[in-house]
This record gives sequence, C-alpha cells and structure tokens, in this order.
Amino acid sequence: MDDLSPRLQKLNSKPLADGKYVLYWMQQSQRAEENPALEYAVRRANKLDLPVVVVFGLAPKYPEANLRHYMFMLQGLREVRRRLSQRKILFVVQHGEPPETALRLGRFASSIVCDCGYLRHQRRWREQVAKEAACLAEQVECDAIVPMDAASTKLETSARAFRPKVMRFYPIYLDDLNPARSVRNSMDLQVESLDLDDEEAVLGPLDLDCSVKPVPLFTGGTSTAKRRLADFLRTRLAGYAEHRNQPQTDYVSHMSPYLHFGQIAPMYVARKIQGSGAGSSIDRDSYLDELIVQRELSVNFVCFNKDYDKFSSLPEWARATLAKHKSDRRPKVYNKIQLENAQTHDPYWNAAMNEMKITGYMHNHMRMYWGKQILAWSKTPEVAYKTALELNNKYFLDGRDPSSYANIGWIFGLHDRPWPEREIFGSVRSMTIGGLMRKTDPEAYVDKVERLTT
Ligand SMILES: Cc1cc2nc3c(=O)[nH]c(=O)nc-3n(C[C@H](O)[C@H](O)[C@H](O)COP(=O)(O)OP(=O)(O)OC[C@H]3O[C@@H](n4cnc5c(N)ncnc54)[C@H](O)[C@@H]3O)c2cc1C
Repeated sequence: MDDLSPRLQKLNSKPLADGKYVLYWMQQSQRAEENPALEYAVRRANKLDLPVVVVFGLAPKYPEANLRHYMFMLQGLREVRRRLSQRKILFVVQHGEPPETALRLGRFASSIVCDCGYLRHQRRWREQVAKEAACLAEQVECDAIVPMDAASTKLETSARAFRPKVMRFYPIYLDDLNPARSVRNSMDLQVESLDLDDEEAVLGPLDLDCSVKPVPLFTGGTSTAKRRLADFLRTRLAGYAEHRNQPQTDYVSHMSPYLHFGQIAPMYVARKIQGSGAGSSIDRDSYLDELIVQRELSVNFVCFNKDYDKFSSLPEWARATLAKHKSDRRPKVYNKIQLENAQTHDPYWNAAMNEMKITGYMHNHMRMYWGKQILAWSKTPEVAYKTALELNNKYFLDGRDPSSYANIGWIFGLHDRPWPEREIFGSVRSMTIGGLMRKTDPEAYVDKVERLTT
C-alpha cells in the first residue's frame, strides 16, 4: 500500500515548525527498508524541501533488557546506519531516555514522525513527545500488518473470534512501499552521535545485566533476517503445517527475534510466504495464521488490557478455576532458581530450559510444555505466572514482546476455553509428559538441544 494514511495517526494538533529537518524518531521499527514511518518522514521532508534525520534513543536501563538483547539490537542498528547513509540520511544514536532524546533533536525539527510501540512504556513515551514537542508529532504503524484499529477496537477473547477480522483485511496492507529518494542530504548536519562500532562506548555506560550473554546462534539485522527467511522458504516451508509442532525438527522460521526488534517488516514476511512457490497452500495458510492472527491477537491483548503483564489480566473463569485448585497437592514443587538452573526431574523440560538459556530461543511446542509444567510445579498459580514471565523475558531474544504477555497468559487460560477439570489446572488446558512422548520425539529433541548448546 503506497497510501500511508491508514497507518497514520496525529499525536498532537501542533503546527509544522520552522525547522531544519523532519525528524524520524526510530524506536520500535529498527530497519531502513519497508519502514512506513521512515518513508512517511522522507515524503513529508521532500514536500518541505528539507532533509530527514533519524534518531534512536539508547535507554540506559530499558525494562528487563540485558546484554543479550542489547548486542542483538546493536548489530541491527549498525546495519540501519549503513543503509540510511546510502540514502544520504543521517542516523543519530544517543544515550538517554528515548522520549528525551527525541525531544532534544525535536527542538530543531519541522515535525516529528515516530513508529508505533504497543507496550505501556512505549505508549507513554510517545504521549510525552506529543505533549512536550513544540511541533506536529505523528505516528505511523509499522509493526502490525493490519493497523490495530482497523482490525478491532475491543479486547478480543480468542483467535477464533479475531481471525475473520484480520484475515478479511490483511491483503490490502501487504504492498511493498516505494522508497522515495531524499531530495536533501542530511549527512553533513553536525549532530553528536555515538560511534556504533565502538562497543565499549555504546554499551559501557549502560546499566546492563551482563550475566545473560549474547548468543552466537542469532545475529541481529535486516539482511540476516532476510537470509534466514529465504532459507526457510527454500527448505522448510514445505512441511510447516505438518511438522511445526515437532520440536525435534526445525520446521520453523526463527523470525520472532527479528520481528520483535522491528528488524524485518511483518508485511515483507507475509508477502514472501504468500508468493512462495514452495510448500502447499496449507503450509502457507498455517504460517500466515501464526504470523498474522496469533501475533496480532497478542498486540490486541496488550493494547486493550491495561493489566497485560499481571495475573489479573487472565479471564475470570481461568482465575476462578485456578483458585479452586490452588491447594491441590503438587507432585513436585520447584522454586525459580531450581527451574532457572534446569534442575527438575524431567529431562525434556530441562532441555527446553537449556535451549532457552543458551540459544535465546525455544521451539513453540516446548514453550507450551515448559510453561504448563511451571504451572504444575509452582506453589501457586500466581508464583508460576511471575516465574514464567520473568524467565521468558530474561532469556528469549523475542521476550518483552506483546507475544510474550499473550502467550504466558495462554498457559493460564488466556485466549483459550475451559477443558475437562483436573487437579491443579482446574479447567485450564494441561499438557503432560505422556502427551509429549505420544505426540513428539522428546529424546530426539534432547539430542538436538545438546548439539545446539555444545
Ligand atoms: C509460553 C510461551 C511463551 C512465548 N513467548 C514468546 C515471546 O516471548 N515472544 C514471541 O515473539 N513469541 C512467544 N511465544 C510464541 C511463539 O512460541 C513464538 O513466536 C515462536 O516460537 C517463534 O518462533 P518462530 O519465529 O520460529 O516461529 P514460526 O513458527 O516460524 O512462526 C512465524 C511467526 O509467527 C508468529 N507466531 C508464531 N506462534 C505465535 C504465537 N503463539 N503467538 C504469537 N505469535 C506467534 C511469530 O511472530 C513467529 O515469528 C511464546 C509461546 C509460548 C507458548
């Protein structure tokens, strides 16, 4: 879609200022291509005969982020800088709270364009910029295929209810954007910026948890994301529908870390899947259902449930049934440290925990099993919720995402329906080791994790 208006939202009603440039405050969509906010900023700047400056604020302490997340992000930002400079667009990265960085550069801007973040603090940041900037501030939705309000304006309770609402519309939002050439070069503007190649200067001053190490299995950046996607299309899209629930195999795309950091556009991924000659229509539809319905249902959840990161965000029926079974005897109880150290009696669960810790990723089927066992082995459902969410966000490269909150919620009944009642879980869906052994090959999964982690 070359018309960006369905993605556009005015954040304030201030006029254009007499500025030196149009500022694109990049925060969520960390990419220099297929980025509707960037293209909108370029078009606006061209109309005003001004250059575009792109700024990124490197938060000294981003909620729950650690060295693993920052390294992946830094790799991606280096590519953004390179790609923007080819378009003669200056990329400025400064330490500081993101809204303050945007406001600092915004003082010399004619208008501020930002991308869209769905979590509480991300929305608060944009509100602050809109309120305190002296010029017009506009937001362009870049990281959902169907703009949130176009899909639904209320909290959706299940994928089943949400599916027709997004799937009806999504094809009109998939078109590639024509990147406009910037008529004015901003590369010569004198604006202080960090040297992204100087890792120590960039990361040293930040208050980072360095105990969670970067992972060799994943390198950040748009070109790596595109290469991985191409490999998936060539070798594993055919068979995705049949094998995606088999954790001992690799019939998945590994797109989630790149989508989380906005390093790849979901529109690009969907277009590539749709246009791929590989796989059957069942494979393609199955993938698009995950990418569009499940992923954007998560966005709907964090946008419309203000308690999205709390136990209280769970549906009432789920909280009631879990409360009823709160005092059921647990066959095993582990605390967070034992879980984090993969010290349980279950070798399959331990392998999953190791996959998460060492690679920053875990196969979706094992994420489900992993979370359900935390519910079974924790003192209370509330403790289980807190433990699962903390571990999820600490170790996964795709953690701290709308999908993190929606899927941890799913462990406890969110977006699901009541199932036959049983101990501990009540009528929340359970998963057992017996089921895992019947439906998958967990021994082969343990071998796979050993290969990946040694
Ligand atoms: C307990 C639990 C915790 C999870 N935590 C996260 C998380 O922190 N961050 C995260 O991005 N996903 C999370 N998921 C969802 C899902 O497991 C991952 O998105 C998926 O495994 C990512 O791997 P992939 O890109 O190879 O997936 P693929 O199978 O290749 O899927 C393609 C894309 O579809 C989307 N997708 C797939 N499954 C889901 C889903 N269930 N919900 C939302 N989107 C989905 C993702 O964007 C994914 O990249 C969690 C699931 C569970 C059960």
